[in-house]
Amino acid sequence: MLIVKKFGGTSVADKERIFNVAKRCIEDYNKGNDVVVVLSAMGKSTDDLLAMAADINPDMPKREVDMLLATGEQTSVALMSMAMRALGVPAISLNAFQVAMHSTSTYGNAKFKRIDTDRIQHEIDNRRIVIVTGFQGINKYDDITTLGRGGSDTTAVALAAALHADACEIYTDVEGVFTADPRKVPNAKKLPEITYDEMLEMATLGAQVLHNRSVELAKKYGVQLVVRSSLTTAEGTVVKEVTKMESMVVNGIATDKNTARIAVIGLQNTPGVAFKVFNILGKKNINVDVILQSIGRDNTKDISFTVSEEQADEAMEILEENKKALTADHIECDKNVAKVSVIGAGMQTNAGVASKMFEALYNAGINIRMISTSEIRITVLVDEDCADRATKAAHDMFIED
Ligand code: ADP
Ligand code: ASP
Ligand code: MG
Repeated sequence: MLIVKKFGGTSVADKERIFNVAKRCIEDYNKGNDVVVVLSAMGKSTDDLLAMAADINPDMPKREVDMLLATGEQTSVALMSMAMRALGVPAISLNAFQVAMHSTSTYGNAKFKRIDTDRIQHEIDNRRIVIVTGFQGINKYDDITTLGRGGSDTTAVALAAALHADACEIYTDVEGVFTADPRKVPNAKKLPEITYDEMLEMATLGAQVLHNRSVELAKKYGVQLVVRSSLTTAEGTVVKEVTKMESMVVNGIATDKNTARIAVIGLQNTPGVAFKVFNILGKKNINVDVILQSIGRDNTKDISFTVSEEQADEAMEILEENKKALTADHIECDKNVAKVSVIGAGMQTNAGVASKMFEALYNAGINIRMISTSEIRITVLVDEDCADRATKAAHDMFIED
């Protein structure tokens, strides 16, 4: 069997944890399996590197930031290989350049295009455990890119797909995917399994237990994932196409505080205005999420939408520059908002989920600022300081004890 095993930052945070991971990998190797390991940077080292960069140059030149961040993963793979060798097992560490993990050019948010498997296969054929840096790629200029925060999961899935692995295991600091963040909602329950579609919504809407691109890739290439703890042997959560479980109406609640709301106010009420607003943002690669259009005063209209907090200033800048052309009266930005979403495939066949969600928030005295839905999700925008209470209220309403 070829197994891809990915370990996140907390799982390799110190010497003891590195040896713990090394031993778990060696167990599989000693059973005759081929083992490819993907690692994140140790502990909070990516945050530390970002802080160092900001301190030296607040402009944070993107190419150099990626060059810097990639060293975090390089440190952990080299140390892991040393740990395995200290335990008498042949191991080799490889970075994205050595593997040749080709990505798009966008620094900080690159996507994989193609992965060469020759080098890894060669090492596997020589019965080595291969340890690969997560989170990084190389672009057409032979520069190092990174995949966005949490991107090591995506490296693991991309490698599992490229190598036709028999298993892809994501080890983290919780025992699987829960009905809500178990650190925020203590009575959250571990899900034995979840569909790709539900997991994709959860990941995109704030459950950082998996990088959303990793779920997208897993679905595309049919890679079944297991999310489990690196510290216990508890069975984790299987992420796959369909689940055997009788579909619960709501499987999870996700919370995303990394959200800003922008309102473009007093626009002319004529065709093409919305197009102009979103075209300008699209050209700058700004991802727009929940959108609301409402009628303003004097036959004008207002368009509000959410973006991630990191992109809010850039979005405001470009909109302000184009204020006249857009016919806007003024533009506002509010970073103190959060998205709370309930997710479940069962919603498709169950009426009344939205009204129950609104009831839960009403009972908790929480005001809803925007609403957006898909077939399997309802998202509301609330004030950031209400987000945790809103999450708990929705959890209590939908998830049985
Ligand atoms: P790693 O470093 O292993 O990649 P992350 O911090 O990226 O770990 O992801 C794991 C964290 O995700 C958990 O510690 C937990 O707080 C958070 N999390 C958020 N939502 C969920 C959820 N629905 N189920 C499990 N964990 C969640
Ligand atoms: N080290 C990177 C981060 O902290 C990638 C990852 O952990 O997946 O975002
Ligand atoms: Mg992660």
